[in-house]
Amino acid sequence: MNAADEFNLARQRMVNEQMVWRGIDDEHLLEVLRRLPRHVFVPMIERADAYADHPLAIGCNQTISQPYIVAYMTQLLALKGDETVLEVGTGSGYQTAVLGELCRRVISMERYSDLAELAAQRLAQLGYNHIEVVHADGTLGWPVAAPYQAILVTAAAPETPPALLEQLADGGRMVIPVGGRSVQELKLWTRNGDDYQCQNMLPVVFVPLRGAQGWPEEDRSCNRGAWRP
Ligand code: SAH
Repeated sequence: MNAADEFNLARQRMVNEQMVWRGIDDEHLLEVLRRLPRHVFVPMIERADAYADHPLAIGCNQTISQPYIVAYMTQLLALKGDETVLEVGTGSGYQTAVLGELCRRVISMERYSDLAELAAQRLAQLGYNHIEVVHADGTLGWPVAAPYQAILVTAAAPETPPALLEQLADGGRMVIPVGGRSVQELKLWTRNGDDYQCQNMLPVVFVPLRGAQGWPEEDRSCNRGAWRP
């Protein structure tokens, strides 16, 4: 079997064993996950594990989320196809591509220029012209393209950033991990006019969201070195 077939087999197995079996039932999302080459978003030295049931290191002390968590968070957004979606925490760009398959336009924000550049390159190579990667502090959102019918935050905040709540469209949904440094609660926000509802969905562990409305900033230099693809 060649490498492409092996990746494809691992991907079908990932969807059956990690998604369907655990209750992901959005058929369109499952079809996207069966098709999207997750291994392309993972550094060479991690590729054999690209479809494994855990997060992987992508350099700059950051991770690509566990596949099931990507599916679970995406399903919570209940996308129909005509949305403009804001993602905070581009990382590898894999979650960004999943969103790109399910909506009209994606703005994805990343605070490390190295990760932002690499993800933007990958997404362009795969032909996603309706996805923009923005290198900036995502805790402040991206007001010029607001409001967003859906917002997905893939790093953990001490509190939900008010800027993101403001940029959520009427009727919109936001999924964000909020809590302490070691464990957080995945929250689903829904907005109806000035009424915001928040539900706790699942305990999770994410890397910190750092910025003006997140955890304090740290050195943003990053030597990806061995992580180069
Ligand atoms: N969705 C990504 C997850 C990456 S991990 C994937 O599956 O690959 C979370 C990312 O959030 C990291 O790349 C981190 O650098 C980024 N991040 C943290 N704080 C941020 C901020 N304030 N603005 C934008 N990105 C941020």
